[in-house]
Amino acid sequence: MFYSRYTPIGEQFAVPAAPTVFKDAELVLFNSSLNTQFGLNWDAESARLYLSGQQPLPDSHSVCLAYSGHQFGQFNPTLGDGRAHLIGSFTASTGDIIDLQLKGSGATVFSRGGDGLCALGPAVREFVMSHALSSLGVPSTGCLAVLSTGQSVYRQGMLSGAVVARTARSHIRVGSFQYLALQQDEKAMTLLLEMAMKDMGLKFDDERRDESIFLFFQSVCEAQCDLMLKWLQVGFIHGVMNTDNTLINGETIDYGPCAMMEAFSFSRVFSSIDRQGRYAFGQQPNMASWNCGRLAESLLLLFSEEQPAIERFSAILVNFSERFNDGYQQLWRNKLGLLQVHIDDQALVTELLELMTKHELDYTNTFASLTALKLHQLQDQFPVAEALKPWLVKWQAITEQYDDGQVAAMMVSHNPAIIPRNDLVEEVINDYYQQGNSTLLDTWLEALSTPYQYTVYPEKWLKSQSDPNRYQTFCGT
Ligand code: AMP
Ligand code: MG
Repeated sequence: MFYSRYTPIGEQFAVPAAPTVFKDAELVLFNSSLNTQFGLNWDAESARLYLSGQQPLPDSHSVCLAYSGHQFGQFNPTLGDGRAHLIGSFTASTGDIIDLQLKGSGATVFSRGGDGLCALGPAVREFVMSHALSSLGVPSTGCLAVLSTGQSVYRQGMLSGAVVARTARSHIRVGSFQYLALQQDEKAMTLLLEMAMKDMGLKFDDERRDESIFLFFQSVCEAQCDLMLKWLQVGFIHGVMNTDNTLINGETIDYGPCAMMEAFSFSRVFSSIDRQGRYAFGQQPNMASWNCGRLAESLLLLFSEEQPAIERFSAILVNFSERFNDGYQQLWRNKLGLLQVHIDDQALVTELLELMTKHELDYTNTFASLTALKLHQLQDQFPVAEALKPWLVKWQAITEQYDDGQVAAMMVSHNPAIIPRNDLVEEVINDYYQQGNSTLLDTWLEALSTPYQYTVYPEKWLKSQSDPNRYQTFCGT
């Protein structure tokens, strides 16, 4: 049932390595809907044994993967899974091939002096955020479970240790190609390319090799572009969009210093290490495009003549911008219920974004308030900010021409009513550190599963609480 699908690419790429055995591990969080959706159907004890390294997955050999990466623009040739083990892949009952990876499962040849461990807090964050983002309709890796290891991890003080069990449709990163390019390993890169294409539903045609590679690159660009539009739609700030944290299939991976935008600003940054604002909210699409450029450079290894390939790759990158610009216009149309094209649409959007920035309005609540208005309900829960009142008249004048029901339906499906707010995520994390469970999460997680549902919520879940200029996130170590 399980297998090691990266092993044929080469032992330097998928290095055999067993996860640490945590005998006292306990299952802290378990995503039973993923468990059934993928057809694993594990009971809690089987999950505990497999995910704590006590029992290997049948027929599989655990590996850690090599990759390089541009970290904040600086190239690092040897990163790789320094605290993660890919314990096996399987075909889910959905038909998807799924990789199962443990994070925090001990040091590997790629640890570079790190301890290979993960603290409970970041593990809980990954569980909550990946579930919330998937439910918001954002492509994301999943989190099947979080286990406490029963051991301590030293960060700034001693913290409880944990293992994250991550599910992903692929662990192939831009950095995976960068690594093989650096090794000048054309054979391994071709194998990786074939696998990556298959994962994305594409066929590598050996007779039309070059065209296959361009098709692949274009698909990666499209997947990245679409992911950026989704992040913009829901206000997600990844925080560490390095090429090693960029999956070629366009799923969100690595919930380290991520956060949700509350008070709106395109220049919003939360990560303590992002001092230049390289990965600020509004910078993310540029950075995704830049990362795609690094993929193109790596793929040049597969061409005998570089110049014509560079020209084709460059043209595809231009398409990235065009696709993004079209999607960007549509994004605001969707969020504002602008069913038809109107001459004043663009000005309306620009003015709204300026007002939101100036008055530090909550991104989610602002659009929820406009949605509630069109729904003719929940307007007490989602009041329109005073500062928007003059603007509102103009928006109403345009949208009143359209069918109210259709406007509301469009807005409901693009404007979440609830999101995983930063202070609540922190509260849940704190609960887990203090008492190993969280009554807040028990109810909140269920609500986060249907974030586009316009209903009555506890006030606390909707309140923009974290001070946007003070809230800081740290790399998920
Ligand atoms: P990240 O910032 O989580 O994407 O990690 C960047 C690189 O650092 C990856 O190669 C990780 O495997 C490695 N890394 C992060 N934390 C640790 C740790 N505690 N021990 C060893 N390696 C780590
Ligand atoms: Mg990473």
